[in-house]
This record gives sequence, C-alpha cells and structure tokens, in this order.
Amino acid sequence: MSIKRLSDGARCADRSIVPDPDLFFPDGTSGDQIEAQIEAAKQVCQKCPVRRQCLVTALAGGTSTAYGVWGGETETQRRYNRHAKVAARSAA
Ligand code: SF4
Repeated sequence: MSIKRLSDGARCADRSIVPDPDLFFPDGTSGDQIEAQIEAAKQVCQKCPVRRQCLVTALAGGTSTAYGVWGGETETQRRYNRHAKVAARSAA
C-alpha cells in the first residue's frame, strides 16, 4: 500500500531511510513481527521534522489516514486519543 504523505521533510518519504513504505502499514496489530514493524515505523517518526503536522492531519481523520502509523501513532492510539479528547470536552 502506498499513500501520499507529507513530502517536505517527511522521513517516510526518504527511500534512503525507509526503502519500503509498507513499513507504516502493518497487517495487524499484534504479534512479535507486527509489533517490531510498528516500533520500527514509530522510530522513523520520532525524528521526523513534520511529525506534529502529520499527527494533526491524521487525527483530523479521512480515509487516507485511517490505517497505519502516522505521526508516530498507530490507528488504535489515534482512535483512543480522539475518544479521550471528546470525553475531556464533555467533562468540561
Ligand atoms: S511523522 Fe512519520 S508518518 Fe508522518 S511524515 Fe513523518 S515519518 Fe512520515
């Protein structure tokens, strides 16, 4: 799977850093191999200069960012963060 990501400075778009963009789209959420893949993708994101912008875009939603690691978070983490944000607003 290949989805266009932020291009200016995005580490995942640099093929010398990430030869295979599928790194960011693991086939599942558990298992040693999948977890290692997710961790490797997150490591790339850790040093990415557009991480914040990427995460904001992913949290805003849309089908192109529904799956995979974006902004250093998995879809499960982003879903949790969205729910936590809504819950915090409701409690205020
Ligand atoms: S934060 Fe991660 S997914 Fe987002 S552009 Fe950077 S390397 Fe790619």
